[in-house]
Amino acid sequence: MSERETSIKKMSDLLRSGATMLSQYCPDCKTPLFRLPSGETICPSCNRRVVFAKGTEVEKTATEAESVSQLEETLLLKVTSMKALMVKAESPEEIEKITRALAALYDLLEKVRKSKP
Ligand SMILES: [Zn+2]
Repeated sequence: MSERETSIKKMSDLLRSGATMLSQYCPDCKTPLFRLPSGETICPSCNRRVVFAKGTEVEKTATEAESVSQLEETLLLKVTSMKALMVKAESPEEIEKITRALAALYDLLEKVRKSKP
């Protein structure tokens, strides 16, 4: 197995064990960091605990803003595919489902845009 495959496997094992993927990256290897159920933050690639020093707050905000626009992009993509489905939809049930999904997507988009710095 390559080094990359090993770390992907490690990451999925972590997720299965209840760890959450953070929006921060390891300062050494740029792998997404994970928070264990115990509260510890670790880098699955370096296999070590990561403690954030003071002064990383600015960096953190930048990463958050980045993930917000990523989310916005994803939502817009979904809106586009929902619209395509709507064109093809024929049954009232289908149309209703798509309408609800679209409403939820627009709702979320609005929230995402408001949360932008
Ligand atoms: Zn690392």
